[in-house]
Amino acid sequence: MKTVSILGATGSIGQSTLDLVQRAPEAYQVLALTAAKDVEGLAAAARATNAKLAVIADETLYDALKTALSGTNIGVAAGPQALVEAAKLEADWTMAAIVGCAGLAPTLAALETGKTVALANKEALVSAGDLMLAVARRTGATLLPTDSEHNAVFQCLDQSAPKGVAKIILTASGGPFRTWTKAQMQAAQPEQALKHPNWAMGAKITIDSATMFNKGLELIEAHYLFDMPADRLEVIFHPQSVIHSMVEYVDGSVLAQMGAPDMRIPIAHCLAWPERIDTPVARLNLAEVAKLEFEAPDEVRFPALRLAREAMVEGGAKPAILNAANEMAVAAFLERRIAFTDIAVIVESVLHAYDAAAPSTISDVLEIDGEARRLAARSMEALPA
Ligand code: NDP
Repeated sequence: MKTVSILGATGSIGQSTLDLVQRAPEAYQVLALTAAKDVEGLAAAARATNAKLAVIADETLYDALKTALSGTNIGVAAGPQALVEAAKLEADWTMAAIVGCAGLAPTLAALETGKTVALANKEALVSAGDLMLAVARRTGATLLPTDSEHNAVFQCLDQSAPKGVAKIILTASGGPFRTWTKAQMQAAQPEQALKHPNWAMGAKITIDSATMFNKGLELIEAHYLFDMPADRLEVIFHPQSVIHSMVEYVDGSVLAQMGAPDMRIPIAHCLAWPERIDTPVARLNLAEVAKLEFEAPDEVRFPALRLAREAMVEGGAKPAILNAANEMAVAAFLERRIAFTDIAVIVESVLHAYDAAAPSTISDVLEIDGEARRLAARSMEALPA
């Protein structure tokens, strides 16, 4: 039996992971499940899996969770430090699926155990890539890429010839606004941006997919995970989302990973790795797909790609700054406080206004993150009404 913990169990990735785990109760024992505020969802998941521990990040919800789990033997805890303690339980396999930099401390704690961590929480890696990889190296932890593009790259990498890789090509659906003009995007409302053409995901990553910050964060994620310089990382629009990414080799060979746009495929790959397990996912019917299209991304309409590349090349504190400003701007857009196109404006202004020494501890990262958030808030106040 494999022991499993899921950080961010109530979210889109968390629920897909639970779906796979619950299909094979004889194979997995659930240790910890966590959420931010969703007491009902967390309690339901903990009861369904007979988890050892349920943790809610919001301390004020401790009593509500305790009540929701009364009559069970499931342990209850609350608060950010309890999340870290849950991640330290030494599960054989941990899914890191908290959204945003809030997932950094628990993800690092899971890596400190030296076990296997499936990483969906891209913002943590973008903000603290060097730090996370150093912890994994020191403890011998295995970091498995869950993000569909990075999981695709991982599957396409020929482990016997790592020096033969020429470049990594990340595919992007282009999101709901792929064909929209800048003027149309200016007036885009949250409900329009939340309508992703191919994937059902949490709100933050769906907005990131509309601005292309998701692909920008993924460029930085690939840079860290595969130790690949910026000039060997490319993005190509592929509206069908059938090819999840590609690896080009020096001999001209290009390997692509394909599948239905369902996160249970990359999650299952991480859950079973290095084996394979069956999934209930719809099989790819290429005759039905009929054609695969590709187009070069437009960095004028989608400045996020240019900004992420800039942060990746400059390195140091810049990726954490980019990420924090984007998290703030996405939240403001979802609350209708700024326009869709202001998201990139805010990120660019903070990225250019602020620099700091490269973070060498988690406190450094959180300090940079906090300052970038303060500057983003100020930059939003300065936007023309
Ligand atoms: P969701 O918004 O659906 O879920 C986020 C999860 O994190 C929830 O369990 C939420 O709890 C919890 N959470 C939110 N804020 C905090 C906090 N401050 N402290 C502790 N827990 C918190 O997100 P997704 O599942 O879509 O995405 C999760 C991560 O995976 C993101 O980093 C995303 O970029 C990445 N990812 C997602 C993909 C997808 O298909 N969804 C694909 C590839 C990567 P609560 O429910 O209580 O709010």
